Amino acid sequence: MIRKIVFTLLMVLSATSVNAQRFQQPLTRQDTLRGSITPEREWWDLTFYHLNIKTSPADSSINGYVLISYDVISPHDLMQIDLQPPLEINRITQEGKELEFKHDGNAWFVHMDKEQMAGESNELIVYYGGKPKASRRPPWDDGLTWVYDDNGNSFYATSCQGGGASIWWPCKDHMYDEPDSMRFSITTPGDLMDVSNGRYKGVTKNPDGTKTWHWYVYNPINNYGVNINVGDYVHFGEVYEGELGKLDCDYYVLNYNLEKAKEHFKQVPMMLEAFEYWFGPYPFYEDGYKLVEAPYLGMEHQSSVTYGNGYMNGYRGRDVSGTGWGEKFDFIIVHESGHEWFANNITYRDIADMWIHESFIAYSEGLFVEYWYGKEAGFEYLRGVRSNIGNDRPIIGTYNVNRSGSGDMYQKGATMLHMIRQLVNDDDKWRDILRGLNKTFWHQTVTTEQIEGYMEEHTDFDLKPIFNQFLRDTRIPVLEYRFNENGLMYRWGNAVRGFNMPVKVYLDGKETWLDFTDRGWSFLESLEPCELVVDKDFYVAVLNIMGE
Ligand SMILES: [Zn+2]
Repeated sequence: MIRKIVFTLLMVLSATSVNAQRFQQPLTRQDTLRGSITPEREWWDLTFYHLNIKTSPADSSINGYVLISYDVISPHDLMQIDLQPPLEINRITQEGKELEFKHDGNAWFVHMDKEQMAGESNELIVYYGGKPKASRRPPWDDGLTWVYDDNGNSFYATSCQGGGASIWWPCKDHMYDEPDSMRFSITTPGDLMDVSNGRYKGVTKNPDGTKTWHWYVYNPINNYGVNINVGDYVHFGEVYEGELGKLDCDYYVLNYNLEKAKEHFKQVPMMLEAFEYWFGPYPFYEDGYKLVEAPYLGMEHQSSVTYGNGYMNGYRGRDVSGTGWGEKFDFIIVHESGHEWFANNITYRDIADMWIHESFIAYSEGLFVEYWYGKEAGFEYLRGVRSNIGNDRPIIGTYNVNRSGSGDMYQKGATMLHMIRQLVNDDDKWRDILRGLNKTFWHQTVTTEQIEGYMEEHTDFDLKPIFNQFLRDTRIPVLEYRFNENGLMYRWGNAVRGFNMPVKVYLDGKETWLDFTDRGWSFLESLEPCELVVDKDFYVAVLNIMGE
């Protein structure tokens, strides 16, 4: 009979209901059109975009066209292109012929005039324009940010993770399909410069005094990674000697921040060194690496990571871990650049699986600390960030409707990965897994199941219940135990069915791994009652069920 319960939560749980209401909104047909691979998307394989637009800060408008190249997989006569109001598509042409189209909310359906033959490569041009939605709270709210710099020059940029790239240009706005390459021709007022993704290809001076900036991306690129940044930029750069040879690093900052940036961006090679060590080669040598000042905090735009953290360490000067280690590095440089591996190299197919980006990268902050300050420092950082866990909703969101899961995908996801590393208990093997993920899924879009499968195969652990517990459930497992005349009996409570994660504990200070049978109690026999302490790198609770 249970008489007395001592309940010790290792964590102080915060009962935040972050944005809970937003996620209770009913799903609509628009969510399905946006978030699923519709028949009007499925029949064509995107190969190339050329985005050619004129940006006008005077009236906050953009106008131009996007050329879309694609291969026909199976013939179909309707194509879905996405563009969100208030922007509008004006014309669509294929081989010079006007195509008819109509729209259903954000989805525009184009009637293909010409018969689409399987295997052939086609292209069409979509002309559009208007005043795109302005972002009120970038980068969390999507759209264009139009501001002025301290000298009164226009300074504007796009950011669109979640809402999608179709908030500012017409595209196939689903993550499963990436173009193999992309070209930009971005027109700006004559005194400003655009910085987009990939390689700088030159500038054209137009008769009306504007300039057109040309950029080219040589690698597959995800939709929300595409960006423009326009400002009164100055440039400096360096060459990093990395795993695949020379990597061009280019920095674009507002002219009055040049000296600060030259000093502060010395963290870039430190970031590259740490992440190439843990994750393998930087994934876009052909496109180079860029850090570009933006009028908001920052975002993982592929090969043009945007930066607005005020040239300070921490997250806007704050250590998110509360351990002191977060003051040692610029959170935005490290976190957003880390996404070049998990987000831009390995990309979720469905935003419900956004943990693939954020859990690994929240975790990577600890790896950065570990690389430069030692293993215990990195571990301390990762234990510190747990105070941000909310356990409000599962980390995995809702599939096929463009809905991501809980913000716990950051710190709780990182915590889960940190625990799996404890199980692997072999630093080289763990590093091989992280590098292996990047190699195996190089430039691919993936599902949670692919990541889980790879990790399971390479750790030799039954990780399924662990992923189910921490990605698909909100409960914190409780290690329930008691001593009786035979020794220690223990089991997992408050856990998903079949949860059997081994856990490291200290019995009167002696390190011991507890393994679990699939159901019911497990036993350590011939053990006198003693103090049981769970290793602090495990995010679990402990319940001592004291018998009589
Ligand atoms: Zn992130």
